[in-house]
Amino acid sequence: MLDLSSMRDLQINVEDRTAWAEAGLTAGEYTTAAGAHGLATGFGDTGSVGIGGITLGGGVGYLVRKYGMTIDDLLAAEVVTADGQVLQVDVEHHPDLFWAIRGGGGNFGVVTRFKFRLHEVGSVYGGMLFLPATPETIASFIALAESAPDELSAIANVMGAPPMPFIPAELYGRMIIMAMLIYVGDPAEGERVIAPFRAIATPYADMIKPMRYPEIYPPEDNSYHPLGAARTMFVDSIDRSVAKLIFERLQSSTAMMKVAQLRVLGGAMARIPSDATAFAHRKSRIMVNLAAMYQQPEEKAKHEAWVGDFAAALEQNDRGAYVNFLGDEGPDRIRAAYPGATWDRLVEIKTRYDPNNLFHLNQNIPPANGN
Ligand SMILES: Cc1cc2nc3c(=O)[nH]c(=O)nc-3n(C[C@H](O)[C@H](O)[C@H](O)COP(=O)(O)OP(=O)(O)OC[C@H]3O[C@@H](n4cnc5c(N)ncnc54)[C@H](O)[C@@H]3O)c2cc1C
Repeated sequence: MLDLSSMRDLQINVEDRTAWAEAGLTAGEYTTAAGAHGLATGFGDTGSVGIGGITLGGGVGYLVRKYGMTIDDLLAAEVVTADGQVLQVDVEHHPDLFWAIRGGGGNFGVVTRFKFRLHEVGSVYGGMLFLPATPETIASFIALAESAPDELSAIANVMGAPPMPFIPAELYGRMIIMAMLIYVGDPAEGERVIAPFRAIATPYADMIKPMRYPEIYPPEDNSYHPLGAARTMFVDSIDRSVAKLIFERLQSSTAMMKVAQLRVLGGAMARIPSDATAFAHRKSRIMVNLAAMYQQPEEKAKHEAWVGDFAAALEQNDRGAYVNFLGDEGPDRIRAAYPGATWDRLVEIKTRYDPNNLFHLNQNIPPANGN
């Protein structure tokens, strides 16, 4: 294992709106430092995630509809290849490698530094909204998120209400939508755009307010490490009947926590051609992450079966998968992350830059020579 966690240098160029960031930084550290200048690059929903992994797999977060994925703000990188060369890669230098590291994960070398574009994102209007979950509220939430302007990115976690201080104790375990909504723009306009979400049903809790962008990453509980059975997938639509299926399947799980995380995509992310980066799911409409969290290892088979059946029941036309949410699920699922010509091009680039498959402890794209 290569531990890059002590590589945390960050050079922010406020004039140019760019930053060179060493790969050991976390999304939260980067976001806090950039936020001090009213600037941001979009990462995911969790501050403790490293910028290395999230960037190399794609990066889907709260700016995805407004500014695209993390890789859409990647301008250059420094890559140490399998043969020990240190390459500076961008659209003009080693463009093939630059294409491959925007979604292809850690298959092509070790990235020591990333150069990102920064956007002016000072304050945003957003936060958490807790709504009762029913097939109707889930479907309404998705329909609103789909028709919202690109300034709004939303994540809806349909789940049993967790024991949180601001949720009345009698609701614990009841099905809720724990949503995170972020509107990047004028707060008054954000309030107007978010109003229909608040009106879906009487919220159990409403923590949406104007806030500084780095506040999207609240402090985390580092002691929480449950076991998990999970699946990631894309679906084309979530109408009332699909929402009903989600609602009922979640209730059929005996896991201590079960969740269906729904992320409506589109916007800036979808305006980039699918072959522009190794992440090719530009046209995917909704990302769904299913998970059952449990404590006893012997429960694994039961929860894996539940999540597998759930994913199969939800399957629609889009059979892709987002590599950063894949578990150890075998070669077919890695192929689902890299459809068609994307896979062929990745294999060709892998064969050139890492013919011996030195970097194979990952969602592996093996070279064409069988190594
Ligand atoms: C709680 C949680 C929330 C998440 N939320 C989101 C989200 O909202 N959006 C999203 O897009 N993803 C999300 N993810 C997925 C996340 O993007 C991946 O788990 C990612 O791999 C994490 O990267 P890391 O550097 O922290 O992990 P690591 O375990 O350090 O890295 C994972 C793999 O990435 C490769 N890698 C990492 N850094 C480098 C490098 N510098 N050079 C070469 N290869 C490298 C290696 O193959 C490594 O094994 C989430 C994950 C978690 C755990």
